Amino acid sequence: MNQTLRNAPPRRYLPVIESGAKGEFWRSGADGVLRISRCQSCRHYIHPHRDACPKCHSRDVRPEAVSGKGMLETWTINRQKWFRGLDEAFSVGLVTLDEQEGLNLTTNIVNCDPGDLHIGMKVRVIFENIEDTWLALFEPDQSPQ
Ligand SMILES: [Zn+2]
Repeated sequence: MNQTLRNAPPRRYLPVIESGAKGEFWRSGADGVLRISRCQSCRHYIHPHRDACPKCHSRDVRPEAVSGKGMLETWTINRQKWFRGLDEAFSVGLVTLDEQEGLNLTTNIVNCDPGDLHIGMKVRVIFENIEDTWLALFEPDQSPQ
């Protein structure tokens, strides 16, 4: 993915990717599809991944494709220059995915002026690929609902 993401931090600290289902979240964007762990017994989505379902304690938890659409619950704008080259402000948002109440991801909202962010804003996933990691970021969703 070679596109420029407006308002994304210019440098990333990548996660240490664990093997198995726990690490699949960071690779799920390779085909442009967001995958979230889901209990195969009670169908509850679980993020971040856990090996056992917090609702029914089943250990049959596997990643499943989700729509990649959600709503901005809240956000903040980082203006602190944490390192050299970080000259532009960027957002850190909490997105709730459409699939389940309380299914939240902490992410960056990109391709959007910080002043346009608002609670309840419809957003969709977009991936930033760095090495073997696909970061799930979100941008405004202009598609018809
Ligand atoms: Zn369950």
